[in-house]
Amino acid sequence: MIAGIADGFVGRNARGPMHENEGRSTASCIRIRGARQHNLQGLDVDLPTGRFIVVTGVSGAGKSSLVIETLYAEGQRRYVETFSPYARQFFERLDAPEVDEVEGVLPAIAIEGGTSVRTSRSTVGTLTEIADHAKWLYARAARLFCPGCGEEIVPHTPETVAADLRRRFAPAARLAVLFPLPVPERLPAETVRAGLAAQGYARVVARTPAGDGNWWWWVVQDRFRLETIEERRLLEALEAAFAQGQGRLAVADWDELRNRLGEPAETGEPLFCERIPAREYRRERYCGACDRTFFDPSPGLFSFNSPVGACPTCRGFGRVIGIDWDKVIPDPSLSLRRGAIRPWQGGFSAQCQQELEMLAPAAGVRLDVPWRELSEAERRWVLEGDPDWIDWETSWPQHWYGVRRYFEWLESKSYKMHVRVLLSRYRSYTVCPDCHGARLKPEALAWRLIAADEAPPPGRLPGHDLPELFALPVEEAAAFVRRCAAGIQGKTLRQVFEEIETRLSYLCEVGLGYLTLDRASRTLSGGELQRIHLTTALGTSLVETLFVLEEPTAGLHARDVARLIGAIRRLVDLGNTVVVIEHDPQVIAAADWVIDLGPGAGAQGGRLVAEGPPAAVAAHPASLTGAYLGGRLRVQAERTPREVGEILGCDSTGRASTT
Ligand SMILES: [Zn+2]
Ligand SMILES: [Zn+2]
Repeated sequence: MIAGIADGFVGRNARGPMHENEGRSTASCIRIRGARQHNLQGLDVDLPTGRFIVVTGVSGAGKSSLVIETLYAEGQRRYVETFSPYARQFFERLDAPEVDEVEGVLPAIAIEGGTSVRTSRSTVGTLTEIADHAKWLYARAARLFCPGCGEEIVPHTPETVAADLRRRFAPAARLAVLFPLPVPERLPAETVRAGLAAQGYARVVARTPAGDGNWWWWVVQDRFRLETIEERRLLEALEAAFAQGQGRLAVADWDELRNRLGEPAETGEPLFCERIPAREYRRERYCGACDRTFFDPSPGLFSFNSPVGACPTCRGFGRVIGIDWDKVIPDPSLSLRRGAIRPWQGGFSAQCQQELEMLAPAAGVRLDVPWRELSEAERRWVLEGDPDWIDWETSWPQHWYGVRRYFEWLESKSYKMHVRVLLSRYRSYTVCPDCHGARLKPEALAWRLIAADEAPPPGRLPGHDLPELFALPVEEAAAFVRRCAAGIQGKTLRQVFEEIETRLSYLCEVGLGYLTLDRASRTLSGGELQRIHLTTALGTSLVETLFVLEEPTAGLHARDVARLIGAIRRLVDLGNTVVVIEHDPQVIAAADWVIDLGPGAGAQGGRLVAEGPPAAVAAHPASLTGAYLGGRLRVQAERTPREVGEILGCDSTGRASTT
């Protein structure tokens, strides 16, 4: 198919009328002269800057040699040279391309689909920097719900306490406002009472332990009926109790309190109780029902990359490595004697099987019954060992160590290669038992972002904690964040919301609305990763930069190609130059400028077949790409880019099916 085209090849010096680059000032293009990287045949080509350029051609025509290994390599080299020698060492240095001259090249950034950024911790959220902004958002805008009882926890003021009382108690209720007074162990009760009386306090309802033998005396600040008390007097009472109680107060139904504790005595020690039977409020974040104090959150609390926020058990990975019992006992129909414990069938661990068979009868563990029919106690003995096991020195070999200790012993020898190989066969990653994959400390999960218009069904907490938000498809997360942002006043907080909203909408724009922010980047396809980087580039407001992309439509559904083009167009409108290697007809048709390489692959390629706006290339008699674009070769509209790519003979490696 290619050979026939070669006859019609039109070299650079015999360009057709479609060449519109003549007279263009050199300042507005990147001039490449004599490019010989790989199979490029001393290629001369000009790329207009500030434009959207697509480089086309059959597989092996030299597209990557031109775009990545010449243009990008040179741009990256010059970009790195703008840094100090010290900083330069942190950049990946590319080999200088084989080229006579490159003029007007811009600092270049390759929007890669490669593996270079895929650390085991990186996710869609971290790649897009949404995770970075989200931790500020949660530290500033999230609300706290007690993990013990689900009540919202706010730092209280007299006003919030008053509102809570009116919500919580019947209007007819008679209430007592109490404050705790610290009383040292040795202070005589009468002295304390005299001191209180001097300040006008007559009643003490109870004392509770304050540790170290000291006490809290619960003193009545005021009593009143809720429906008749004036708001002003209520607030004054609460303010005074907070002041006396150094930020703590309690409110009780007076009748209920007397039912439980009796009429308060007026002399001697007050009645002892473990906890005051009243609702406690604090100026700090505190749950009275669960007697739990909370701290104001820092952004670090919401980052699994921070020691402040990372789940201590899995260190923020969400998974832990452990013994996979299904691999240790793969066939539960086998008896112990027939080899139920897989790792002990041969090799250096065969001795364990002998020891098991020797010790099992005395422990009453049956050796000839299928594993699945053994009792819970028998299995526990096999796996966990003798209950009276102490350590290897004292207990071995007369006591049974159990499969678990066998693995612990192996771990201690894991510097040996064959042990590491053996261990790897019986271990696997499982979801972290403490955070259940959420990667954050439990404290972080108590904070929830809530939309103002939200009314959750009873029994469910409103809004989302951070891992829940990150588990939503980007589309849904975007809608939720938009609702939360409505009505936000503070300027700084508004900006944080905007940063996140913009990035989420970019992700939707490039057709990635189905991804979740917690998706590990190592599980993304090259096309997905490249489009994520594209959204990051859109977010950085870089100008006069050369962006290079290789097949960004890979794996993209046909209907999302238009959105991808829109995103590229935005990057160009910001004043950048975007060069894309692509054979998707929709992308080619949307470009400002097309450079068609060929005509064949390898030695048959590496030449400029046609260049110009898509319409001009389509009209070019020698261009195969143009032939398809112009409809001279029939490409049905409903064909997928993949099929078109195959028709053009393009390499479709790595392309997911788009149908
Ligand atoms: Zn609670
Ligand atoms: Zn964990």
